[in-house]
Amino acid sequence: MEDCIFCRIVRGEIPSDKVYEDDRVLAFRDIEPQAPIHVLLVPKTHYASIMDIDSDTFGYMQTITRKLASELGIAEKGFRVVINTGEDGQQSVKHLHFHILGGRSMQWPPG
Ligand code: 5GP
Ligand code: ZN
Repeated sequence: MEDCIFCRIVRGEIPSDKVYEDDRVLAFRDIEPQAPIHVLLVPKTHYASIMDIDSDTFGYMQTITRKLASELGIAEKGFRVVINTGEDGQQSVKHLHFHILGGRSMQWPPG
């Protein structure tokens, strides 16, 4: 059993503000939101990063991202999906997650 903060959220050991859950993934609101909508989507199985996950699970996360964007009301105006990876990518939690950000106009380039 992984002693990882997102694994613990998946197991319900740490409470989270859930927006979607099924047998493969969990989506919950980021504790430090960077936009009016800031949801984290995680696979229930622990994968450290995009370098480790299989394409089927990754593809499923894309399907759920599309569904969540519609349900959260950000599909029409647009949104951003961020996957921070590794040290230079500023990944702080080593359990793959999509940041789904929306509800405001985003900046580019990222800092
Ligand atoms: P990373 O920096 O790894 O791309 O993103 C990790 C994200 O997880 C951060 O945006 C941070 O605010 C969020 N986070 C860290 N711990 C918790 C937690 O216990 N609950 C929730 N909801 N979000 C968390
Ligand atoms: Zn984990």
